[in-house]
Amino acid sequence: MTRTQALDELVTANRILAREGVVDSFGHVSIRHPDRPDRYVLSRARAPECIEVDDLMEFSCDGTPIDAAGRKPYAERFIHGAVYHARPEVRAVVHHHSPSVIPFSVTNATLSPVMHMCAGIGTRVPTWDSHATFGDTNLLVTNMEMATELAAALGDRPVILMRGHGCVVAGLSLRETIFNSIYLQLNADLQLKASGLGDITFLSEGEVAAVLRTRGAFTFERAWEFWCRRAGRPYDARAMDGPLAGA
Ligand SMILES: [Zn+2]
Repeated sequence: MTRTQALDELVTANRILAREGVVDSFGHVSIRHPDRPDRYVLSRARAPECIEVDDLMEFSCDGTPIDAAGRKPYAERFIHGAVYHARPEVRAVVHHHSPSVIPFSVTNATLSPVMHMCAGIGTRVPTWDSHATFGDTNLLVTNMEMATELAAALGDRPVILMRGHGCVVAGLSLRETIFNSIYLQLNADLQLKASGLGDITFLSEGEVAAVLRTRGAFTFERAWEFWCRRAGRPYDARAMDGPLAGA
């Protein structure tokens, strides 16, 4: 994938998350730099629906802009660099505040897959509480110290919730990360609905593993094409990224 394709895909990812209601004026998505694995690419501070290629900035993993050119970065960009630093295999990171997931971050209800399409969120989604270490803050992750602790709490999982704030989703490709961000939101909605009806039977660990074993790049591709159409963005099948590309 060329650098131009990678940047276009990142614009598309922003528009998809906005169109699907995962982000509003806030929330962001980054990719690891296609040529410099010690850097990532993230928009300047702007609502995802509005983002254009010229808004995309490069950062070192400590959150320093490479060439800001007068552009103001997101205050919470540190989340992305901390995850890329801790997880060499990760190619894309989303941070969002979907209202659907917040109830699970502020109660003892554990978010777990209730539907096969949502298996990618992990068997049990943990919650990181910034208050435990950092006390009374505005809850934003605005430095590497907080971001590093958050990334450590994420560990090798795909998703972590942030108490009273939102979540982080990390994946092996941009398409996978967007896919799991959208299905995380759907799972939260479904689990909340189901909890009002009675006791929930969640997917077993074996079922989650079986779903993920049989999931190939075609799954993400089929969804990506659909979401591109809904977001009014061109679909580029050649831009498939990640280790599953061509599977
Ligand atoms: Zn946030």
